[in-house]
Amino acid sequence: MVLSLLKSMVTSSRSAATAEAEHTQKGQGAPRVFDFHGGIHPPEHKALSNRAPLVAAPLPREVVLPLSQHIGAPAQPLVEIGQRVKTGELIARAQGMISAPVHASITGVVTAIEPRQIPHVSGLEDQCIVIEREGEIDEWARLEAWRDWRQQEAQDLIQRLQDAGVVGQGGAGFPSAVKARVRERHAIDTLILNAAECEPYITADDLTMRTHPEALIEGLEILASLIGPVCILIGIEDNKPEAVIALEQAIRARRADKRLPPLDSRLEVVVVPTKYPSGGEKQLIKLLTDREVPSRGLPADVGVVVHNPGTVRAVQRAVCFGEPMISRVVTLTGEALQHPHNVEARLGTSIADLLRLAAPAPTGIARLVMGGPMMGFTLESDALPIIKTTNCLLASSPESLPAPAVEQPCIRCGMCEQACPAELLPQQLYWFSKAREFDKAELYNLADCIECGACSYVCPSQIPLVQYYRFAKGEIRSAQHEARKSERARHRFEFKQARMAREEAEKEAKRQQRAQAAQKSAAARADASAAAETTSASAATTTAAAAQPAPATDIKAFKTARAAANIALKKAEKALKAAQDGGESSESDIAKLEANVTAAKTKLASAESALKAASEASESAAPAAAGASTASTSTTGTAAPAADLKALKTARAAANIAVKKAEKALKTAQDSGEGDIPALETSVAEAKARLAKAEGDLKAASEASESAAPAAASASATGAAADLKALKTARAAANIAVKKAEKALKTAQDSGEGDISALETSVTEAKARLAKAEGDLKAATDAAGAAQGTDKGPVASAAAGSAQTTDTGAAGSSAGAAAPAAAAPSADIKALKTARAAANIAVKKAEKALARASESGEGDIEDLQTLLATAQENLRAAEVRLNSAQAGSTDATPAAKGAGELIPEAPKPAAGSVGRGSMASNVTLSQTEIEASRAENLAKRHKQVSIAVKAAEAAHRKAEAALSEADDENRQRLATKVDRTRRNLEHARESLAEVQALVDAQ
Ligand code: SF4
Ligand code: SF4
Repeated sequence: MVLSLLKSMVTSSRSAATAEAEHTQKGQGAPRVFDFHGGIHPPEHKALSNRAPLVAAPLPREVVLPLSQHIGAPAQPLVEIGQRVKTGELIARAQGMISAPVHASITGVVTAIEPRQIPHVSGLEDQCIVIEREGEIDEWARLEAWRDWRQQEAQDLIQRLQDAGVVGQGGAGFPSAVKARVRERHAIDTLILNAAECEPYITADDLTMRTHPEALIEGLEILASLIGPVCILIGIEDNKPEAVIALEQAIRARRADKRLPPLDSRLEVVVVPTKYPSGGEKQLIKLLTDREVPSRGLPADVGVVVHNPGTVRAVQRAVCFGEPMISRVVTLTGEALQHPHNVEARLGTSIADLLRLAAPAPTGIARLVMGGPMMGFTLESDALPIIKTTNCLLASSPESLPAPAVEQPCIRCGMCEQACPAELLPQQLYWFSKAREFDKAELYNLADCIECGACSYVCPSQIPLVQYYRFAKGEIRSAQHEARKSERARHRFEFKQARMAREEAEKEAKRQQRAQAAQKSAAARADASAAAETTSASAATTTAAAAQPAPATDIKAFKTARAAANIALKKAEKALKAAQDGGESSESDIAKLEANVTAAKTKLASAESALKAASEASESAAPAAAGASTASTSTTGTAAPAADLKALKTARAAANIAVKKAEKALKTAQDSGEGDIPALETSVAEAKARLAKAEGDLKAASEASESAAPAAASASATGAAADLKALKTARAAANIAVKKAEKALKTAQDSGEGDISALETSVTEAKARLAKAEGDLKAATDAAGAAQGTDKGPVASAAAGSAQTTDTGAAGSSAGAAAPAAAAPSADIKALKTARAAANIAVKKAEKALARASESGEGDIEDLQTLLATAQENLRAAEVRLNSAQAGSTDATPAAKGAGELIPEAPKPAAGSVGRGSMASNVTLSQTEIEASRAENLAKRHKQVSIAVKAAEAAHRKAEAALSEADDENRQRLATKVDRTRRNLEHARESLAEVQALVDAQ
C-alpha cells in the first residue's frame, strides 16, 4: 500500500509536469499522438448503423433487471412481488463498497423476483427483478435535479453518482462513484474520454457524441470537478468525423457561454488513427499521453482516469436532471438486420424486442453476438435483457461471421506476438493454458491480456487463442478463490483452536480452584468429624441424652453464622451495585467495595463449609446417640424419651436437606456441564443412604416409643404421674408432628414443588400417631383416676408424681381424710420435692423454648405456649401436693380442723361419691396459703408472658426491618415471616391480657 502510494506520488508529479508540457506543446500546434505496440485493422462495418439517427426504443412491455449488472457485490432487492414501482424508483440497493443500486426502468408492477438467464459469457442464471409495464404510463421518480451542480459539494456529487447507479458503460461496469473517489489515493492530472470506439460494427458512442455533445462536455466538467485534472482529452478515432465536429462545436459553445465560469482544465479533442484496439484503456492512454500503465496496474497509477461517453452522459443526466441510470444507447447492427441503427433503450428490455426494431432479415440471424465481433460473445438466445454494459447487438448472417475454422497446430510464426497490443507472448500463453500450466501463464502476464482478440485474428492456424486465455483466467480465478476460501478456513480453524485452548485453560483453572476448595472443605469436614466423633464418644460413655443437645446447639450456631455471612454478603453486593450505578464513587471506593464483597464471599464460603461439616458430623452422631438412647430405653423398659425422638427427627431433617443440596449441586453441574458429575452423583447416593438410615432410626424409635408408652401407662395405671407425663409429652410431640406435616404439605401445595402424595401420607400417619397418643393418654388418665379412687394413701399417689390438680374432687368424709394424713412418711415428702423440682425444670425449659421461638419467629408458638401452660400447671400441682404432704407430716390432727374449714370453697359432692379429684381432700393448706400460692404463680405467669410479648415484639420489628431492605429474591419469604411474627405477637398480647385480667381480678 505504502509502495503503491509512493509510486503514485512519484508518477503523479511526473505526470503533472508531463501533462503541462504536453498541454503547452499541443497548444502550439497540431495535437501530438503517440503509438502503441501491435494492433490490427479489421473491417469496420460501422457504416451499417451510424447512418441512422439515434432514436428512443419504445417502452417495453416487460423488463427483466438483473441485480448484478456491474462489477462488485450484487444489489439487494427492496421491493416485493405485486409492488407498483415508478420509473427511476430504487428497487435494489447496493451492498458493500463496490456495488451499484438498481432502479426500475419502467412504471409498472413487480411480477417476479427470481433467477433468470442473464446476458453473460457463462450463460448462467442470476437473480432478477421482473416488472410488467402498467399501460402506457411512464411515471418518473427522479432524484433532485441539480442544474447548478457547481454549488454542490464534491461528496454530494459522488453520492449522487452512487445513488443513481451510474457504472461504466464501456467495460465491465465499474461503479463510477468509486472511480470518482480516485483522487483520495491518486493524484490525477488527465481525464480522458474514451471515444475511440475501435471495435468493428459498434457505433453507440459515435451516435451518443453526435447526438448529445453538450451533455458530454458538461458530464466531463462534473467529473473534472471531482478529480481535478490538468487537462481533459477526448480521444476519438478518425473514422468518426461527425462526432469530432459535434464535440468541437460543443466545446466552443461552452467556452463562448459567458454565463458559465471558464473551464478549469484544458479540454481538447484528440483524433487518433483508426487501429484496433485503440479503444483499449491502456492503449488510448499510450496514444494520448505516451504513458504505459504498469503490468497489473491501473490508469490511475499513471495519473489518468478514463471514462466512456455513455458513462459521462449518464453522469450528466444523474446530476443535472436527477435521472438514475435506467437506459443506455445500444447499437443494433449486423448483416442479418434490415434496419440497423442505434436506440436508446430502457435497461431490462428484451433483446428480441430490440432486434425487431431493426427488422431482422427473413433469412434469420445466423449468429447473435453481444458486443463486437472481436471482444463480444455469442448469445444462445434472444430472450435475454440488455443491461448497463450492453453496447451492441450484432446479428450476423452466415457470410459475415462464418463458423470458426478447424484449429490447426501452432506453427510458431510469431504473428500473434506482433499483433498483441499488450506486448505479450500469445503463443507462450497458449501453450501454458493448453498444458494447464497456469502458474507459468501468470508469470507471462496473462493478467495483462485485454482479450482483444488481435492474436486470434492474425493467427494463420485459426487457433481461438482468446478462448484459451479466458479458460486459463477462469481456472486461475477459481484457484485463487479456493485459496482465499481455504485461507479463511485456516484462519477460522486457527481462531477456533485458540478459542478452544483458551476455554480449556479457563476450565482447567476453574477445576483447579474447585479442587482446592474441595480439599479445604474436606479438611474442614475431617476436623469437624474428628471433633464430632470425640464428642460422640465421650457422650456415649456418659449418657445418650447428654450427647444430643451439643451438636444441635453447634449446628444452630453454624446456621446463624452462615445467615449472618449471607446477609453481610448481600449488603456488600448492594453497596457495590449502588456505587457502580451511581457513577459518583471513585475507582478506589469501588475497589474497596469489591474487596468487601470478596471478603464477604470468603466468609460465607467458610461459614457454609463449617455448617456442612457440623451437619455431617451431627448426622453421623445422631443415629449413634439415638441408638444409645433406644438401648437405654429398652433396658429400662420405658418409652423413648422425647429428647431422643427429637434428636432423631433433627437428624432426619438434616439428612433430607443434605440430599436436596446434593441433588441441587448435581443438577447445576449437569446443566452447566461443569464440575465433577460422577463425584456429585456419589454424594447424592451417599446422602440418600444417610437419609434412609435416619428415617429407619426414627421409625424404630417412634415405634418403640409408641409401644412402650401404653405399656408404661398400663403398668402405672395406679396413678404413676411420670407415665402420664410421658404420655402427655408423646401426645404433644405427636400434635407438633401433625402440624409440621400439615405445614410442609401446604407449602408444597402452594409452591407446586415436592412430593405431595408422600407428604399427604406423612400427615395421615402423623394424625394416626396423634390419635393413638391421645387414646393412650386418656386410658392412662382414666386408669390413674380409677387407681386414685381406690387408693388408700393419697401421699403415695402424690409421690407417684401425678400432676392432676385441675380436677376438684369431693372433700370426702372427715374420717376418710384423717387416716391418710396421719400416714405421710418423710420418704414421700422427698419424692414430692423431687417431683416439684422436675416440674420446675420443665417450666423453665418450656419458657426458654417459647422465648427462642418468639425471638426467631420460627416454631409453633401456640404449641409451645400450651406446653408452658401445662408445665406451669404441673408445677403448681406439685407444689400444692408437696405443701399438703408437708402440712400433713407436721400436723397430725387434720381431722380436728375439719376439711370443710380448710377448704371452704371446695364443692361438696354427694356423700360417698368417689372422684378423680379426691386429691383435694388431702389438701390441708389454709385458704391464705392457697391464695398466696396462686398469686405467686400468677405473678410468675405474668412475668413470663410479658417476656414473651417483648420477645415477640422484637422478632416482629426485626422481620419488618429485614423486609424493608429485602431484594426481590427474598421479599416474598420475608413478607411471610413478618406475617407470622405479627400473628405471634398478637397471640402473646392476648395471653398477656388474659393473665393481666386474672391479676386484676385477684
Ligand atoms: S499466430 Fe498462431 S500459429 Fe502463429 S505463433 Fe501465434 S499461435 Fe502460433
Ligand atoms: S487477446 Fe491478449 S494476447 Fe491476444 S492480442 Fe489481445 S492482449 Fe494480446
